[in-house]
Amino acid sequence: MKNPYLLLTPGPLSTSPGVREVMLRDWCTWDDDYNLGVVTPIREKLVALASAEKPGDYTCVLMQGSGSFSVESMIGSAVPPDGRLLVLANGEYGNRLARIARMAKIDTVVHDTGELAPPDAAKLEQALEADAGITHVVCVHNETTTGMLNPLAEIAAAVKRHNRIFMLDSMSAFGGIPLDMARLGIDFLVSSANKCIQGVPGFGFILAKKSVLESCDGYARSHSLDLYDQWKAMEAGNGKWRFTSPTHTVRAFQQALKELDEEGGVEVRYARYCENQRRLVEGMESMGYRCLLPHALHSPIITAFHEPEGDFSFRPFYDRLKKKGFVIYPGKVTRVPSFRIGTIGHVFPEDIDRLLEAIEESGTAAR
Ligand SMILES: *Cc1c(COP(=O)(O)O)cnc(C)c1O
Repeated sequence: MKNPYLLLTPGPLSTSPGVREVMLRDWCTWDDDYNLGVVTPIREKLVALASAEKPGDYTCVLMQGSGSFSVESMIGSAVPPDGRLLVLANGEYGNRLARIARMAKIDTVVHDTGELAPPDAAKLEQALEADAGITHVVCVHNETTTGMLNPLAEIAAAVKRHNRIFMLDSMSAFGGIPLDMARLGIDFLVSSANKCIQGVPGFGFILAKKSVLESCDGYARSHSLDLYDQWKAMEAGNGKWRFTSPTHTVRAFQQALKELDEEGGVEVRYARYCENQRRLVEGMESMGYRCLLPHALHSPIITAFHEPEGDFSFRPFYDRLKKKGFVIYPGKVTRVPSFRIGTIGHVFPEDIDRLLEAIEESGTAAR
């Protein structure tokens, strides 16, 4: 089965034929073939990807649902009843972190720098100094709203200097942008099957520092999303999930991890995404389109462009590109008309060249 078009979106994204093919058989969630042969190697591999430096300090818990379910599991299970959470928000996904925390009745402080500016590390530092009650800090790694790569090292260093627990929504970056949880001092990191690892949707995963997760017994605000309980069950049952797991998706993810290795690992994938994004921006700018963000703030994951002035209309533009085999993404920035193009997934620099031709032919006078 060939896909009718490439998904140039932040996920779900275009997957390889190999990833789709392994879904053509069924698995028993009770059996060793699945738990020891599929789930356990996935957990081990994700830990290895999370920290080359100190993999023994970390563990991985898989969680049913889309990525947001795993975010909710992490936040709701990590912050104790008397804890206080500082959220750094600069877009829709940062705002979602705050919404999740508040619905869980977690005492929450939000530093919102707006969609067009990165989090303010100096202000974070001041807040941690002034408020000893803040126990946890959470932020987004790549803010998918705009494609902004947030200053992770700076934020992580500030949180560690003040000895607080640091949680990261690395949903749209993990596996596509190199990082080491131990070196940065990240206690919890969340991502999902259908982003840079290039699997299909259906579950997420939480990477956690074991010594910190060990202290989270009884904190969860939701039974289904209890991270500690899911961890303990997976450990005791050699990879058995507490409730029905998305077996086909999990098997596809194992294949996606194998293909990540075959590609050369995260560094090589990162270089491909960077090249995709570089070509995209160069080509779009040469046609007169303007990026929403300054280049220095871009991630290689997704790029937002201003809608051209004049009689541009997104929907017909989208439809024309789709007919030519490319699905792009609407904008999400509140006050600026924009659209987004993702550069992750089973997508290669030649595909970007073909996309640019299609955009040129689509006849939208950008200038
Ligand atoms: C994709 C994404 C999520 C999760 O979205 P779901 O639709 O629940 O999978 C969360 N945070 C970021 C930054 C994302 O890019």
